[in-house]
Formats: sequence, structure tokens, C-alpha cells
Amino acid sequence: METVITTSHTASHILAPAYRALYLSGELARRVDSLNALLVRCTVCPHDCLNNRVHDERAVCHAGRLAAVSSYTAHFGEEPPLVGTKGAGNIFFGNCNLRCVYCQNFQISQTYKQQRTNEVTPERLAAMMTELAGRGCHNINFVSPTHYAPQMAHAILLAAEQGLNLPIVYNTNAYDSVEVLKLLDGIVDVYLPDLKYADSNDGAVYSKVRGYTEHARSAIAEMYRQMGDELMYGEDGLLKRGLVIRLLVLPNDLAGVRESLMWIREKLSPRVAVSLMAQYYATNKAATDERYTLLSRRITEREWMRAVEALEDCGMEEGWMQEYDSAAHYYRPNFDDRDVPFKDVRDFEAG
Ligand code: SF4
Repeated sequence: METVITTSHTASHILAPAYRALYLSGELARRVDSLNALLVRCTVCPHDCLNNRVHDERAVCHAGRLAAVSSYTAHFGEEPPLVGTKGAGNIFFGNCNLRCVYCQNFQISQTYKQQRTNEVTPERLAAMMTELAGRGCHNINFVSPTHYAPQMAHAILLAAEQGLNLPIVYNTNAYDSVEVLKLLDGIVDVYLPDLKYADSNDGAVYSKVRGYTEHARSAIAEMYRQMGDELMYGEDGLLKRGLVIRLLVLPNDLAGVRESLMWIREKLSPRVAVSLMAQYYATNKAATDERYTLLSRRITEREWMRAVEALEDCGMEEGWMQEYDSAAHYYRPNFDDRDVPFKDVRDFEAG
């Protein structure tokens, strides 16, 4: 379902995720303290709500003291070197700091009352991580972690105490605080950010957020500062460290893919890995609310080809792209089935 743009992968000799050394030195515990301190007047993301989350005060994202986990499972729908044979160890957080009208995970990202029932202690979150490791998953892939970055780091500390040795993937909408990302330096092994829009006005209309493009670009620039443009692979061929930027092609060019690619190339590097995604389908409000009619359909093949051409014109050298035809079915989750919210992508490949 995914095509490799190039195969110039760098073989590496990474023996352990970076957080192992931070844990042994005591630095990981200090980082957790610094991150938890941000919850008192919440500045965990660029919304800067200033609510006291330690006292469970809620604001834009509806997140409180404890992390809400909607599902955790082996997942086969991420980029191939994250999936391997046993799957990525996905932990889907509930709630979100964005309100995308087309969010495919809206059942868990925009149902804050329900998510209160999914809140777990750091100890329970750490137990989920070790359970996924025990199932053979190749990494721990935190999905929508931004608003729970302190709780995530706390659970990583507890799991590290129990010997966790898997790469940590930070799978984010990129509306992240640069200060938080600096505290995650050496804790996160793979950054997997979206870059949703090249124009913040579109972010305001379709994700209900101010300054998306400026904040996301600052966040991704910090991720690049930490990771550079090199992807590090283990001897098993799986991704152990690096930055992969996801670009989801939207109908009517609302994502501004060419402009985002040019920014990546000019401000970061043409060797940054990009994952070009064709899987958009109309769901949530985009499927029902006529204010969002520009998002009410799949992308056309021509729109997809234009995005592929932009990738080629920009000379991007590393990454993956989905196949236009194959992307429509597997990626429609149903979080009513908490244990298996996604169908198994391998069934679609076999068919
Ligand atoms: S994490 Fe949530 S409460 Fe904190 S600043 Fe962001 S949106 Fe506001």
C-alpha cells in the first residue's frame, strides 16, 4: 500500500533507544518533573490555556491530570519500517488540541465526555507499553500525544524502569510547543508529525486553531534540529530514529502540499523523509456540514498526481507515498471496537 520514494536508507548500529541513557543518568526523571510542571498553568501546547491540569481544570483540549487512552493495539497501517511483521505498538490518546472537521479519529478526538471514562494512571499507561512490547510490537507509537506529553514521558520513565527497550514514536498533528519538544529531546526516537496546511487561514477554518502553520513549522524545525535528515535503521530493517513528515493531500489543494514541500526543502533539507498520503476521505463534519463542502469528497487522481509531481519537482529524496487506489478502505477506523479499531491492512494487501 506504500511505495518507497527512494531506498537510500542508512544502516545504523543503534543498540538502544536514547531514553535508556537518559533513564540511567537520572535525566529522564528530571525531564518528567519539568514537563509535569507545565501542567500547573498549562502551556503544554501553543494554545497556552493556563488552566491548572493538576487540579483537573479543563480547557481547549479537555485533557486533565490523567491521560485518556482510547485504544492500544498492534497496528499495521503506519509507514512500512514502523510496522515490520508484528506491527507498530499504537497507543491512541483520546481528546485533541485541534478540532479538524475531517478528523478520521473523531470518535476519540472529539468526544471529551466519553474520554473521561478512558483516563488511566501513568502506571497503567506504562503497563500498556510493556504489554505491547510483550506482543512483539516493534515500537511504541503514541498517536496524538501533544496534550499528554507530560503523562507520556512519565509512563516512559516507569516503563524504562521495567526494562522497556523499544523506540518511542511521537505521532503528532505538529501543533506542539517548542519548549515541550526540547524537553522530549532524547526521549523520543522517531518524530512523525503532520504538516497539515501551508496557510494558517485554512487551519482556522478546518481545524479551529490559530497560527497552525507558524507553530507547526517551528515545531518541525525543532524536531529537525534534534534528528537531522538521516533516518537510522536497525539490522532488522526497521526505523529506529529520525524525522518523517506526513503530508495528507486534501481536496481542492487545501493542504498546500507544494508550498509545504518547498518549505521543507528550503528551510530544512531536501533529504528530510516525507510520507505523502492519499487516504483522505470525507468523514465527521466534512461529510455532513455544507460549510465544508470543499472537503466533502475523496481527492481525485489528478489532485494526487499534482502532489506527486510537486514531490518530484522539489527533488525530495527520501520517504514513502501511498498508492492512490489502495488507500480508501483500511484507514477508516471504528473506535467502537477498542481492541481492533482498524481492519488488518494485510487482508487488503492479500486481496
Ligand atoms: S494542552 Fe490542552 S489545556 Fe494545555 S494549552 Fe494545550 S489545549 Fe490548552
